[in-house]
Amino acid sequence: MLSAVSVDGNNCLFALALAIVEVENTATWEFFLYNLTDALQGSMDFMNLTFMTDKLKGLIHAISSIFPAQASSAWVYERAIEKMKDTNVEAHDWLLRNPPSTWSRHAFDTGAKCDHVTNNMIESFNSWIGPMRNKTILSLIDDIRENLMIRLWKKYIFAFSVEGKVTPSVKKKLKLIVSDARFCHAQFAGENQYEVTDGSTRFTVNLSTQHCDCGVWRISGIPYKHAAACIREQRREPEDFCDFYYSVDKLQLAYREIILSMPDLKQFTVNTSMLNGVLQPPKLKRQPGRPRRNRRREPGEPDRTEFRRKNQSVRCGHCK
Ligand SMILES: [Zn+2]
Repeated sequence: MLSAVSVDGNNCLFALALAIVEVENTATWEFFLYNLTDALQGSMDFMNLTFMTDKLKGLIHAISSIFPAQASSAWVYERAIEKMKDTNVEAHDWLLRNPPSTWSRHAFDTGAKCDHVTNNMIESFNSWIGPMRNKTILSLIDDIRENLMIRLWKKYIFAFSVEGKVTPSVKKKLKLIVSDARFCHAQFAGENQYEVTDGSTRFTVNLSTQHCDCGVWRISGIPYKHAAACIREQRREPEDFCDFYYSVDKLQLAYREIILSMPDLKQFTVNTSMLNGVLQPPKLKRQPGRPRRNRRREPGEPDRTEFRRKNQSVRCGHCK
């Protein structure tokens, strides 16, 4: 199964698309992406989409613990890279084999307004599917559809119960940022520009262009502590400076659509005469690795071990 997932403004999983394919290879991924692009083309923000893949699997697993990946500005990245080179040249060379725009926060497309450096969301989606995965294709798709339908409805209710301008997760984040901003000193320069001192480092902040030298605001879409110190000086709310992706309005918009209810699968009739010569099942290919020895059971069909266990306890009442 191939899937594309995203996160909503409240940092929760948002499933976009899935497809069942015979094998996972370039051709099937191309088929999936072609149709995904087609489906998303109607979206207003289509041009701002950022794709994260687990193609660079080793790298993706590693970057969450590597400091240069988390650097939000070019100068912090350069310093981290130099430090890594001094510590371990092999790790440094391995890391730079892929362009930083695919793994380092500072080089990400700023239109995404998202600072995720791992694709943990796909792992969350896979674990959410977890028990359904063993079902036959039709039952699998129907179960996912039903669960997504329920999820969308619950999230819709939640989105309309939220009060304020930004989503609850951003509200929580801002609380911590505002608290950290107490240790920053903002010096007004005029025309919404400030010089902010954080410890021994100085940053320039421009509230009009949403710029801070540290780069966090530009990438995440949420003002960081340096900007929060300036916002505090103006006696304004940091919520007013968050990107519109994190607004409650956007969250409500994300869950406005519904997945339509469907009758039972048993009610479906397939006109087999139409299928002749038009749609044939794909040719079966043997997968790499050892062939499956146990037949995949239908949903609700008892497990073989359960059946055996029941039989073991049967004894003849006459001969004992
Ligand atoms: Zn900053």
